[in-house]
Amino acid sequence: MRRDALPPLIAAAPARTLCTDCGVSRSSDPHRCGQACQFIAPDYPGAEQRVHGRAREPARAGELHFGVHRRMVRASLKAPSEGAQWSGITTRVAERLLETGAVDAVLAMASNPDDRWRPVPRLVTRAEDMAQCRGMKMGYAPLLSLLEPARARGFRRLAVVGIPCQVYALRALEAEFGFERLYVIGTPCSDNTTTENFHAFLGLLSEKPEAITYLEFRADYHVEVRFADGTRREIPFLQLPLSTLPPDFFPLTCRTCVDYTNALADLTVGYMGGRGEQWLIVRNARGEELVALLGDELRTSAVTSAGKRTGAVRGFMANVQRAGAGLPLRRMPAWLKPLVGWLMPRIGPRGLEFARARVEMKAIETVLHLEREAPRKMRHMVPAHVWALAAPYGLKPQDRSET
Ligand SMILES: Cc1cc2nc3c(=O)[nH]c(=O)nc-3n(C[C@H](O)[C@H](O)[C@H](O)COP(=O)(O)OP(=O)(O)OC[C@H]3O[C@@H](n4cnc5c(N)ncnc54)[C@H](O)[C@@H]3O)c2cc1C
Ligand code: SF4
Ligand code: SF4
Repeated sequence: MRRDALPPLIAAAPARTLCTDCGVSRSSDPHRCGQACQFIAPDYPGAEQRVHGRAREPARAGELHFGVHRRMVRASLKAPSEGAQWSGITTRVAERLLETGAVDAVLAMASNPDDRWRPVPRLVTRAEDMAQCRGMKMGYAPLLSLLEPARARGFRRLAVVGIPCQVYALRALEAEFGFERLYVIGTPCSDNTTTENFHAFLGLLSEKPEAITYLEFRADYHVEVRFADGTRREIPFLQLPLSTLPPDFFPLTCRTCVDYTNALADLTVGYMGGRGEQWLIVRNARGEELVALLGDELRTSAVTSAGKRTGAVRGFMANVQRAGAGLPLRRMPAWLKPLVGWLMPRIGPRGLEFARARVEMKAIETVLHLEREAPRKMRHMVPAHVWALAAPYGLKPQDRSET
């Protein structure tokens, strides 16, 4: 077996209804889930205090929506990496950590050799092997099941690339694992689903879904799809076949996720606030260290904001409520869609305002879906920052029966 290859999984996937199989339940002590799980009783202020030295302060610009940070920038690699989701900042930071000897290994997601969309966790020890982890995969894979093998192999300085539910659990267990040094590079995450469901979605987009090599929901209200023959399509959000998806297409976990922007990472690498470029949220000193590793390979500019989000967020909320009540969604007549599709990138919320809109939509979804499908979870699972984001839309804990 190659030194970097995946060892056999320690145990079967867990049976909980709210679980994204982050890997903790497959560790030698599955009871750790009780303390580590985002879907049980998360303590974001406590975790932020441990990781960043303070909890998020809603009075500081941007912190209610995006969590503790020192600064945010738009950014791209001057030489974008082949196969990356955007320009490849995430992978390049991890490569630099390995090149400079700052870490012994990086824990990240590669693709299953038989299915590029299926994530497979991997401990990478050579910078040149990080390329195998480039690009977005859809689905869940037990990233943190490799923490114990990492310790067993004597790795004391580790970097982890993860999505928010994985990073919450990682931070909850960080002290127990006792790595000498831990760098956490996070990406935002939303609307994840099983790899099988994602394949079904690709089948709605193209007659040759197997030829799709890339897909991204861009901040300009288009989905970009690339094909193996080099062609690409840009489909306006409004023209996506979303209404044909079954109601459980997105699992309850991802409809009720409480941390869109990966608040416990040292550095979050996303795109929502980037207006066509990547968007970095540098959260603490270690995050600054990670950005500095890129030196002048990185081009940055100031984040900007335009448009108004409230109408879009209210419209979204009305549709979530209608769907929950079994009523037909408010749909635009087909003839109007191209016009609105053309207008949205020009007059809709853009830059940070787009990111704020998405974060508020997610908070609303969390409250409404949990209330409908798992009301008893609300009291412990919904953190104060999610209630604060949903409050302007009339969703308050004191009005909800189970909280
Ligand atoms: C399911 C999903 C939904 C996302 N939704 C948003 C969003 O709404 N808004 C936003 O700004 N950004 C979102 N992102 C992040 C975004 O797609 C880019 O991954 C990110 O901006 C980094 O781009 P890059 O070019 O630097 O990444 P690359 O250099 O291509 O590296 C991508 C990294 O992502 C990790 N990764 C890929 N797929 C998975 C997966 N399924 N599970 C765990 N880790 C994975 C890999 O370890 C890899 O290192 C999402 C990512 C995922 C996986
Ligand atoms: S901690 Fe991870 S494995 Fe455990 S229940 Fe939560 S998501 Fe599942
Ligand atoms: S949307 Fe949330 S719960 Fe779902 S995979 Fe992403 S981080 Fe995890």
